[in-house]
Amino acid sequence: MEKQYIKKDLVDDWESLQRIFIRPEDDASRETLIKYMEQILFGLHEFLNKNVGVTESISLKALTDLYKETVISPLPEKKLADVISDIIEGIAPRAVNVASPYFVGHMTAAIPFFMVHLKAIVAALNQNVIKLETSKVLSVLEKQVLAKIHRLMYKNSEAFYQAHVQSTDTSLGSFTTGGTTANLTALWVARNLLLKPFDGFEGVESQGIAGALNAYSLDRAVILASPRGHFSLKKAGGILGIGHGNVIPVDVDAHHRLDVLKLNQKVIELKKNGRTGILAVVGIAGATETGIVDPLDDIADVCEDHGLHFHVDAAWGGPVMLSERYAHKLKGIERGDSVSIDGHKQFFMPMTCGMVYFRDPLAMDAIAYHANYVNREGSVDLGIKTLEGSREANSLILDSSLKIMGTRGYGLMVDHGIETAQRFSQAIHTRGVFEMVTEPELNILTYRILPQYQGADDLGLPHGEKKTGGWGGST
Ligand SMILES: *Cc1c(COP(=O)(O)O)cnc(C)c1O
Repeated sequence: MEKQYIKKDLVDDWESLQRIFIRPEDDASRETLIKYMEQILFGLHEFLNKNVGVTESISLKALTDLYKETVISPLPEKKLADVISDIIEGIAPRAVNVASPYFVGHMTAAIPFFMVHLKAIVAALNQNVIKLETSKVLSVLEKQVLAKIHRLMYKNSEAFYQAHVQSTDTSLGSFTTGGTTANLTALWVARNLLLKPFDGFEGVESQGIAGALNAYSLDRAVILASPRGHFSLKKAGGILGIGHGNVIPVDVDAHHRLDVLKLNQKVIELKKNGRTGILAVVGIAGATETGIVDPLDDIADVCEDHGLHFHVDAAWGGPVMLSERYAHKLKGIERGDSVSIDGHKQFFMPMTCGMVYFRDPLAMDAIAYHANYVNREGSVDLGIKTLEGSREANSLILDSSLKIMGTRGYGLMVDHGIETAQRFSQAIHTRGVFEMVTEPELNILTYRILPQYQGADDLGLPHGEKKTGGWGGST
């Protein structure tokens, strides 16, 4: 079939194309822009209202068959309005309706409607917080938001926060693209602190892992964590050059929590011959699959006794700190040398947003990089101490939503999640065909169908109800 090209004149030459950068100048073009935005907000809203539950049923095979064209059209095929309509009619119904009441079991779910507006503002401003020149106030704001969350967690004095909130010499943490990069950043810092420079050795960051182990007379460096730890910890082991085989699981107790006695034994055993460097011990504050919180305070004691870096992976559970009712469940998080928290999980932010925090405002110096064109020494340039290069101004979204809802609003959402999981658990206990695998600690529970019913067709379940499942999947 002959392709229909429209608006060919748009790409006649550069002068014609410049139109795509021109903002509304008159009432007519302003109206067009508003019309598109309405189409997006209301068109999608209608879709979410109409399509509850499993959206259009189309097999993956049939779906993939529709997406096999690999040639990019040289000329414009569609107008913006048509592209938007196509997305609303063709993509949205085949995407996953995360706002459906049937959508349980996943980490990233529906978000408050105003997040869409906030995300649009971030895109419209398009500030790059890698450096001050491309972001100005948004770099300053990021430092403020980091200090706010840091304060919520570590509860240091007003004087401490006044000294660090806008200091160009210190960092309380960083925004990242997610929990994976937050964990990687924390463990990167921990690695560089363990294998730091000394007279005659420039440090692991400069000399590499082989040189560092040699300089410190070590055979290996290890990370200790619960086997329920997120697989991003293993990735970090690989990327940091210690090998993911050296991310060593420590046994859990009957409640799936890291067994602190076993941890202590393991540390003593590893330290015995002096040939193993312990890079960090990781405690989980809300395991991705079970929601379980490790005994953070007790792990902190072990780390303190042995002088080890204690990292808390609170990617999932971090925002529980904002709940008046349940904040106590994270007791000990404030003793973490580093803490990861995801924005796009229980802060209900749009993807992608993570954060990493450090108790010591100088810790991030261990990963500082300077370049002349960007990230000048002693500047506010946030890119000096981040894994990512260019980054969007996500702190604006979190700051705004904290202003819109307050800690109370977030706390209520956390409470609701935890209490819904408790009710879900009660419902499962009343059904003979299921059993709980883990009781909910936070808002995640796992259950299974009893083996004797597995494969049975008629379980007396309402049509479409899944036979097995967990609430709170893992990604
Ligand atoms: C989700 C999660 C991660 C990974 O975060 P991403 O944002 O998916 O990269 C790490 N740890 C825990 C405990 C998580 O729940």
